[in-house]
Amino acid sequence: MASQASGWRLVIHGGAGVMPRGSISPEEEADYRKGLMTALDAGIGILTAGGLAIDAVQAAVVALENDPNFNAGHGAVLNRDGLAELDASIMDGRERKAGAVAQVRTVKNPVLAARLAMDTTPHVMFAGREADDLAAAGGLEIVDPAYFVTPKRVEQLKRVMAGEVKAWDRRGTVGAVARDSHRNLAAATSTGGMVAKAPGRIGDSPVIGAGTYADNASAAVSATGHGEMFIRAGVARMICARVELQGMSAQEAADVTLTDVRSLGGAGGVIVVTKDDAAMAMNTDGMFRGEADGAGRKITAIYAGE
Ligand code: ASP
Repeated sequence: MASQASGWRLVIHGGAGVMPRGSISPEEEADYRKGLMTALDAGIGILTAGGLAIDAVQAAVVALENDPNFNAGHGAVLNRDGLAELDASIMDGRERKAGAVAQVRTVKNPVLAARLAMDTTPHVMFAGREADDLAAAGGLEIVDPAYFVTPKRVEQLKRVMAGEVKAWDRRGTVGAVARDSHRNLAAATSTGGMVAKAPGRIGDSPVIGAGTYADNASAAVSATGHGEMFIRAGVARMICARVELQGMSAQEAADVTLTDVRSLGGAGGVIVVTKDDAAMAMNTDGMFRGEADGAGRKITAIYAGE
């Protein structure tokens, strides 16, 4: 990806997976691209006004959580019991402060609960009912668990449980990474996890260092893919380490790390932004993604090689 030495930059994803060209109808494709544009606009508004990367990634992820097409917030995939159990995390590269929630069921925007954990507690990660309680006590919008469940996801769960489609074929986890005009980095990720997952299963998205990491000294990363392998490979932290310690570009660090994930049998993608560079990498047919910068670039893409 063309690099730009200064100015803000925003990269987002809406999940990677098996999505060969032709497998998504033109109407669906237009809908996904519209959702990605809305999320980019939410982040761009903050970054052009001189706002912080942490606020931009949060705004972009909230927009994607609210879009039923993506596997996060409203429209998240369902676990084997037909319930949405949501995971999210956020990290500020300035002081490496981080917040995460796992298995939440009632907070409308899990990424806001992750931010609340980061900003208002001495802890990094909350899980289950107590994470929902933290969100409620912090004044975040609470919804009935039915809010997250869409007819499309009910149908998908049925098909996966019947063995008609594989759980990992099409994902939709969302994430954002940004560099602001003050050269701070931040990352955020939010997901419903894997379709038909075992109740209580937690993937990489809320795990700092696996699905999300940000450090002004190296990079900001958000991942999507088969979470177990992304945890085992320590993907987000590893990409940052490769940038910082081995001097790799964002693209090189992303590619090498995804090759390692592949060696464990995992598929997926990552978005990366550094002080002067950015990358969108995947080892799948596609990844819903978008990118914008201070020079006026604003694009969305779905398929690999696009
Ligand atoms: N990484 C997510 C998880 O394993 C799923 C995904 O990105 O599609 O929970």
